[in-house]
Amino acid sequence: MIIKKEADQIISYLEDTSNLKFGNADAVYIPKNEAEVLQTIKEARRNNTPLTASGAGTGTVGGRIPAGGAIISLEKMNNIISIDKKNSKAVLGSGVILDYFLKELDSKKLFYPPFPTERMAFIGSNVATNASGEYSYRFGATRKYVERIRVALSTENILDIRRGQYIADEQGIITSPFFKVKIPAYRSPNIKNAAGYFAKPGMDLIDLFIGSEGTLGIITEVELKLIPALPPRSIMIIFLDQLEVHTKGEAVASGDLLLTGLEKDNGILKLINSIKNNKKLNVYSIEYFDANSLGILKKAFPNIPSCQTALYIEQEKKEMDIWLEILEKYSVVDTWFGDNARDYNKLIDFRHKLPELINEYFREIKQTKVAIDIAVPENYFPELFYFYREMAKTTAVEYVIFGHIGENHLHFNFFPKNEQEKEQAIASYIKAVKKAVQANGTVSAEHGIGKLKHKYLAMMYGREGVMEMARVKKTIDPFYLFGLDNIFPKKLLQD
Ligand SMILES: Cc1cc2nc3c(=O)[nH]c(=O)nc-3n(C[C@H](O)[C@H](O)[C@H](O)COP(=O)(O)OP(=O)(O)OC[C@H]3O[C@@H](n4cnc5c(N)ncnc54)[C@H](O)[C@@H]3O)c2cc1C
Repeated sequence: MIIKKEADQIISYLEDTSNLKFGNADAVYIPKNEAEVLQTIKEARRNNTPLTASGAGTGTVGGRIPAGGAIISLEKMNNIISIDKKNSKAVLGSGVILDYFLKELDSKKLFYPPFPTERMAFIGSNVATNASGEYSYRFGATRKYVERIRVALSTENILDIRRGQYIADEQGIITSPFFKVKIPAYRSPNIKNAAGYFAKPGMDLIDLFIGSEGTLGIITEVELKLIPALPPRSIMIIFLDQLEVHTKGEAVASGDLLLTGLEKDNGILKLINSIKNNKKLNVYSIEYFDANSLGILKKAFPNIPSCQTALYIEQEKKEMDIWLEILEKYSVVDTWFGDNARDYNKLIDFRHKLPELINEYFREIKQTKVAIDIAVPENYFPELFYFYREMAKTTAVEYVIFGHIGENHLHFNFFPKNEQEKEQAIASYIKAVKKAVQANGTVSAEHGIGKLKHKYLAMMYGREGVMEMARVKKTIDPFYLFGLDNIFPKKLLQD
């Protein structure tokens, strides 16, 4: 096993894309197999030091940044153990880089539907964060495709969990060979969600580990469901003006928020609704870009026209006649198509470029991101969209609004330039989180809680909900070894 102890060898493991600067650790352990993972755990227990799992460091909430102790990096557990085309499944070491896996699948005409956006991430971390991706509108997030995991526990055991094997009984107890755990009484919202431990009556133990952000054990191996390679797809970017949306009063009075209040003014939500409801279209993703996002993207795509907004749609084929019919009611400024390999890849880049440019900008201005990641149930989305637009009109802080509008999940990112602006941005952030909580939504649809969002998780589930998570952790990781301060602070367990 490789063990790095020199400060200059450790430094690159002390960061992710959150730009948080508190990270410190005494050593990085890099096991090659499960036996070495267990050896690392034994050593950490002997030294009484916490152990933080590290993937590729593409996380955005400081999850892999250690708050002391040691790091366990899964980078050498990077073998694809098998790809079984006949049974549409793959077994992988935790440290396999997603991009490498996807290319292997490509060569075998297979596909991994969650298709997480950040391709340099490790597959084990994708499971630990329940990562989602560009097609989650169509296929859902990682959770749906995880069939089996192997996890190293702090009790120095390997727990092999196959979906369906360990299920909560009527009292909410899951019995495994190494522990009995009572699942939390709260219910995870039935929407895109990456906030805290998953909980639902009759749930599967595997779902407790998926999205647990390295706090319950070290995932060493995963088995994933696959599907046949996707048919050829095309991308369309629709640049639009005429963005009027309903007034709040109309929307609330209408009862049917998506359809009624919007009919009068041809707002963008009505357009999205027509796309979603059109059975003839075979859509994989619907993404939104506001005017400020387009302004940033102009650095990479100078021919973006002047307009108020753009929708990015990926679909199975270019159904031109249907689109003409849908779009004739809207003020379309320009439309770009990518339906040959070259143009398709160029437009894929359009979608990926914005988060990259935003992260670069944050690094440049040396600020921590104030990035809203809430999602709400579909019937509440018009209300949230209206709220975002009002917030955009009134804030003095630079911002962009973009993201997964098809999943009722938009990122409102603030770019505060100084502490005063940061305070304003955080005040707006808290208002948005309250909106999401009121609507039974989530405070984090995809980035997770990590070390950045404890207080928002408490707003979502209440203190008791977070205490329940802490009790789950205490049962499964009685030595409080893993993921110190991820999801909730350690002191919660000591209160
Ligand atoms: C440009 C960009 C776009 C992104 N887009 C998305 C997106 O669309 N959807 C989305 O969900 N995320 C997105 N992310 C966030 C990030 O890519 C995902 O969370 C990803 O799954 C993290 O993988 P990683 O290997 O970099 O993990 P890291 O950042 O290294 O770690 C993430 C967390 O997983 C834990 N962990 C890592 N490995 C293990 C293991 N083997 N066992 C237990 N715990 C482990 C860590 O302790 C940490 O808490 C994006 C990030 C960037 C930079």
